Amino acid sequence: MAGRKSTSLLKRAVRLIPGGVNSPVRAFRAVGGKPLFIERARGSRIYDVDGGEYIDYVGSWGPMILGHAHPVVSRALKKAVERGTSFGAPTGLEVELAGLVLRAFPSMDMVRFVNSGTEATMSAIRLARAYTGRERIIKFEGCYHGHADSLLVRAGSGATTLGVPDSPGVPQSLARNTYNAVFNDLDSVERLFKKDPKGIACVIVEGVPGNMGVVPPGEGFLRGLLDMTHHYGAILILDEVMSGFRLCYGGAQKVYGIEPDMTCLGKVIGGGLPVGAFGGRKEIMELLAPSGPVYQAGTLSGNPLAMTAGIETLKLLRQGGTYRDLISTTTTLCNGIREIAERKGIPCQVQQAGSMFTLFFNEKPVENYNDAKNSDLKRFARFFSRMLKHGVYLPPSQFEAAFVSIAHTRRDVARTLDAVERSIK
Ligand SMILES: *Cc1c(COP(=O)(O)O)cnc(C)c1O
Repeated sequence: MAGRKSTSLLKRAVRLIPGGVNSPVRAFRAVGGKPLFIERARGSRIYDVDGGEYIDYVGSWGPMILGHAHPVVSRALKKAVERGTSFGAPTGLEVELAGLVLRAFPSMDMVRFVNSGTEATMSAIRLARAYTGRERIIKFEGCYHGHADSLLVRAGSGATTLGVPDSPGVPQSLARNTYNAVFNDLDSVERLFKKDPKGIACVIVEGVPGNMGVVPPGEGFLRGLLDMTHHYGAILILDEVMSGFRLCYGGAQKVYGIEPDMTCLGKVIGGGLPVGAFGGRKEIMELLAPSGPVYQAGTLSGNPLAMTAGIETLKLLRQGGTYRDLISTTTTLCNGIREIAERKGIPCQVQQAGSMFTLFFNEKPVENYNDAKNSDLKRFARFFSRMLKHGVYLPPSQFEAAFVSIAHTRRDVARTLDAVERSIK
C-alpha cells in the first residue's frame, strides 16, 4: 500500500506531471489505490520510498529479465559512464550489439537501433509502406505497438470496419489507413485483404501478445498469417518488442518457426536502458537513409550506455541453461497459482508464454481481445490490492503480462504462492 512518502510525492507529482506519471498504467487507475513511488530495486525485489519491500513481477514492464541492478551490467555501465555518455557518432558497441541481435534472429539481415519500441514499430511501418508503395496496414485488436498515430487505432464496429482513432488527437485521415483484425482469427484477416487486395502494405502483430495479457497464438496462426500476407504482396512485421528475449533466445519466430520480413525489438535488448530496434531483409532495410531514401534518425540512437547494458544482458542470457531455469521457475509459479485457484473454486486462466504470464479471472481460455475484456476486472483489482499488501508487486491491470526474472528464486515463488493463497477470493 502507498505509505506517507508515496502519497505526498503523488500530491506534488500530479501538479507537475499529468496524472503524476510519465506512462499511464503506472498510475494504478485500473485497479484503484495509489501508486508506490520506488526508491531502488535489486534482484527480484523492489523497494518503495516508505521502506516497503516487494517481490517484483513488473520488471520495468519486461526489460529486467536478469533482475534489478545485476552486478555484471552495473559494473559495465559504471565503466561506460566514465568514457562519456553520448557521442552522436558511430561506436564499436553498436556493431557488437547488432552482431548479437542478428545472430539471435536469423530472419534479420540488418538492424537499426532506436530509443524505444514505439520508434521501432513506427519506423518499420514507414519502411513497409515505402517498400510496397501501399498505404494501409492491418493490426490486431488488443495488440499494442507503442503510441505512434497510425497504431493507436481499433476497429469501430467489428473487424471489417475502417479504423477509428483510439485517442483524441489522432487524425481520422490517418486512422482510416489502419484496419483491425481479430487475433487468432485468420478469416478476419482474409476479409480485409479481399476488400483491399492491392492497398495493404503490411500486417503487424505481436509475436506472443502480452498487451491484452498473455494470449499465445494458436496452432498455425502465425504461419498462416505469414503465407496470407505474402500471397497479397504485403509484408509481415513481427513485433517482438516484448516477446523477443522473453520466450527464448530468438523470440516467437524461433518458437513458432516463421521468418517474418521485419522484426521489432526493444525492452530486454536495452537491459533496462532505453533501446528499440527494427530490422529485416536486406532489400527492405537498405531503403533506409543514408543507404536509401526512407528517412529515420535519432540524436541519442545507439547511445553507448544503452548499448553496453544491452550487450551485457544478451551475453548473460546466451549462456546455456538460462532460459531452462527461468521458464521452469515461471511454470512452477503458474502451476501453483492454478492449483490454489482450482482448490478454492475460483474461475481463472493462467496463461504462460516463456517467462511471461497473466492470471485472467475468466471462465474460458482467452484467445483474443474480446475474451480478455470479458474477464472479471473487479475481482482482479481486489486480488491485485491484496497481493500488494502481502508484498507482491504485480502489473496493476488485468490487460498486462507479469514478468519473471532469473533473480526470482524458489523461495520467491513459494512466498508468492503463499500470498496468492491469502489473496485469491
Ligand atoms: C512495450 C511495447 C512496445 C512499445 O515500446 P516502448 O519502448 O514502450 O515505446 C511496442 N510493442 C510491444 C509489443 C510492446 O510490448
